[in-house]
This record gives sequence, C-alpha cells and structure tokens, in this order.
Amino acid sequence: MPHEHHAPPHARRARGAAAANDPFPIVEQVRDGLWSIPVPLPNNSLRYVLVYVFETDRGPYLIDAGWNTDDAYGALESGLKEVGSDVADVQGVMVTHIHPDHYGLAGRIREASGAWISLHPADAELIHDRYDEPADLLTAVAASLRRMGAPAEELDTLKNAAMPVLPLVDPVVPDVLLEDGARPEVPGWDLTAIWTPGHSPGHLCFYEASQDLMLSGDHVLPRITPNIPFHPQAGANPLRDFLASLDKLEPYEVDEVLPAHEYRFSDLRTRLEELRQHHRDRFAEVLAILRGGSSSAWDIASRMTWSRSWDDIAGFMRRAAVGETVSHLKVLEADGLVEVADGEPVLWSLTEKAG
Ligand SMILES: [Zn+2]
Ligand SMILES: [Zn+2]
Repeated sequence: MPHEHHAPPHARRARGAAAANDPFPIVEQVRDGLWSIPVPLPNNSLRYVLVYVFETDRGPYLIDAGWNTDDAYGALESGLKEVGSDVADVQGVMVTHIHPDHYGLAGRIREASGAWISLHPADAELIHDRYDEPADLLTAVAASLRRMGAPAEELDTLKNAAMPVLPLVDPVVPDVLLEDGARPEVPGWDLTAIWTPGHSPGHLCFYEASQDLMLSGDHVLPRITPNIPFHPQAGANPLRDFLASLDKLEPYEVDEVLPAHEYRFSDLRTRLEELRQHHRDRFAEVLAILRGGSSSAWDIASRMTWSRSWDDIAGFMRRAAVGETVSHLKVLEADGLVEVADGEPVLWSLTEKAG
C-alpha cells in the first residue's frame, strides 16, 4: 500500500544509508519527561511514525498518533506502559497534519481516554471531503490528472490510488484548533504551534522553548524530502508555501529536531538548506526539460530523474510524482519563468524571461 504522502521515488538520502536496513527503533527517552514511541506503519517503506510523549502531572500529551490499526494501537499501548503511563490517561493529542499515519489513530485514543485532539484549521476543514465522502474529491482528482496529461488507460488506477488508506483513518473532528502561534496547554512544557503549510495545508510544527526542541512532523525529516504534490486539496501553490515554511523555521535556535519519521538530529539550519537546494535542483531540471519544447506535466515528470525508472513508478507513487512536478511548475509560473496554455492536457512552456 502506498504511503499517502512521502514519495520514495524522489527521496534524496543525505547519508546514503537505506532506511530499510536501519534497525527498528525502540522506545527512547528524549529528555527528562519526554519520550519517543515508534508506531509501526503497515506495508510502508517508512516503517514507523514516531509519537512523542510529554509527561505532565495530569497525564501524558502526545504529538501525533499513527494509523488506525490494531498493531499501531498495540504498539502505542505497550510503549506508554513502558514509560509508566497508559492510553487511558492521555490528555491531549496534537496532530501535526491529517495524513493517515499521523491522524488516523487519534480518534481511538480519544475514545479510550477522553483526550482532546488538535489540528490546524486548514487541515481540519479537509477531513470531511477527504475521508467521509470522498466521491467529489475523486472526481476532482480525475479531472486534475487529465489536465496534467495522465493517459486515459491509467486514469482509474491513479484516481483511486489513495483509497486503500481510507479504512485506516478514523475521520474524527478535532476538539481544539491550533492557529499559528497557539500555545497548547501542556502543563510544565512550553509548546508553541508553528504553522508550516506545504506538505499539507495545515501542517504544524511544535517548538518547545524550555529545551529548544523542534517537533518537525513531516515538514523537515533528516533524509527524506517530503512530498509536496499539487492536488485539489493542496492549495494554489503548495511548494511556494513549503519553501516559505522552511524559511519560517530558520530563526529558531534548536538543540534537537524531533521529526515524525526516521531519527532525531541536531543541525536544523543545515537540513533546511539541503531541502531548499533539493528544490533548486528540481527547478533547474524542469527548466532544462522545457528547453526541448512545451510539454504536459506528465511528460515532464516521465523525463525527470527519480530514484528508479519511470516505468517502475506506479499507482500512488506515480500520482505523487506528477503532482510534485506540477508543484514545481506552479512556483516557476509565479516567478514568471514558465507559462501555461490551458487545455487537456495543460501545456507548459518557457517564457522569454527564462530564455
Ligand atoms: Zn505526511
Ligand atoms: Zn508521515
């Protein structure tokens, strides 16, 4: 089953190691009263999401939850036991964004504990159309894929490529909406929500000021480049949003970054710059392809370099790859370097400014 939102085909690994060969992490103490619990992801190359547990005198507060599977729930349950706590005692679940591996299990935790669930409003408002009644969204996805130039014979497969994740999400409505700068009430800790749209329109990072920790969700991961696909729920220019959200973290003096996947790391600014450079390289690649003449996004995507050949990228991965190509085109368009001729497919070409 494809992951909803990281597309390994274009993952760039900073350190060369294959994530699949790394040992599965254990429950770890991050700081006094702060724990990391790996919660397994089903059939997924990322293998786990890291749930962070803040201990307080009222009970634990979580950042992110996991997929809604028995395995995930069991891992969270035993992880909490290991740190001397219990699912029933959870007071709050701060979800970084609505992707299934972060949000899917939140409802079940709330049922067991009465905890509140929080999200940024921009993600909260996508839940119904995405998870409860996705028929209209699927129609919009198909129309968008046709404009991108997807071949007719692949349309149905691509349109439905995210459907297998639906049963793994409990589409609950959050109790608390956290805007940019909000201070979720977690006694004894000094957390601030930082709105970092891009990977998802309502993605939140959390800064813990007493220990200088950045809980970065999927926004900044140590090796993988988060997928930033253009799609009907992504907003007008998701990659431009993402790049601005990288800049937004630049001022923070961070002792350690606590991401939702992979592993903790210390040098946030270096990683921010690597991510910017990755996208600069991709912009250059798109412009070079367009020097050969106007093209559909599908065409451009099929000629870009991925970590495997285009023919080996299928289903959700292919949709993510084309969506990510469009994201790059939208930034270049806003910068006046490419222009677009409406149609089916939409055709992209260089402007004079790019020449
Ligand atoms: Zn995600
Ligand atoms: Zn994720």
